[in-house]
Amino acid sequence: MKTMTCRQLSGPCDLAHTGTTADDVINAQDKHLKETVKAGDDTHVAAREDMKGRWRKPWAALGWYRDMKKAFADLPENPA
Ligand SMILES: [Zn+2]
Repeated sequence: MKTMTCRQLSGPCDLAHTGTTADDVINAQDKHLKETVKAGDDTHVAAREDMKGRWRKPWAALGWYRDMKKAFADLPENPA
């Protein structure tokens, strides 16, 4: 398991997501953005819009996914 924060995933806060793959933390971030915006948090609106755009145009977001996967791969494993 590794940890990536909201901020490391292009978001505005330091909430930590843990997962075994980059997709796990990306999905957790997507859920986190949806929930915070739904709860009325203005600071996450821009990041949420960016994420929505990525799902709509995956080919345009390949660079971002590649960066996130590389960042995840470079992280140390969480202590057990
Ligand atoms: Zn956040």
